[in-house]
Amino acid sequence: MLKDILSPSDCAKCRVCCVFDHYDLWESPIIPDEMKKSLSELDPELEFIPRNDSWVFNMNGSDDGLYYCPMLTDNGCRLGDSKPFDCRIWPYRVMDFRGRFVITIASICPVMYKKPLNALIAELDSGLADTIFAEAENNPDIIKEYDNGYPILKVGGYIGE
Ligand code: SF4
Repeated sequence: MLKDILSPSDCAKCRVCCVFDHYDLWESPIIPDEMKKSLSELDPELEFIPRNDSWVFNMNGSDDGLYYCPMLTDNGCRLGDSKPFDCRIWPYRVMDFRGRFVITIASICPVMYKKPLNALIAELDSGLADTIFAEAENNPDIIKEYDNGYPILKVGGYIGE
């Protein structure tokens, strides 16, 4: 979804958004029910934890103290273009800031966070922001609680109106 601004080769070299520590497990991707069913058919050994009306992967911690997404392989994500919406828009995040939708950016992304602000905004203005807000209205489980480490790039309407 971000191929115009974030090259697949940059992502393939970096796995930072697919590995979590216990502070950022809240960032793990939201998986809607339908996707959970198809993932379970793909790999019956996958385990999921309910998160509101959706699911997240049950990632067992490794000896290094990190949690690796079970879809992550040495060649990147097993799911290709069918990955969860959260992953397709990362490092953009949709958050609840005082009852309003906002789109933020995760500073941990080493490629996107170095881009000029006008490039990040232009990508959102090309239709992506509308897509993100529409998805958030359709599936509120993807809305994260606002974290002040995430600069706000776009402000949307009030949640639930
Ligand atoms: S589903 Fe794919 S892109 Fe998303 S966190 Fe897991 S490995 Fe990364």
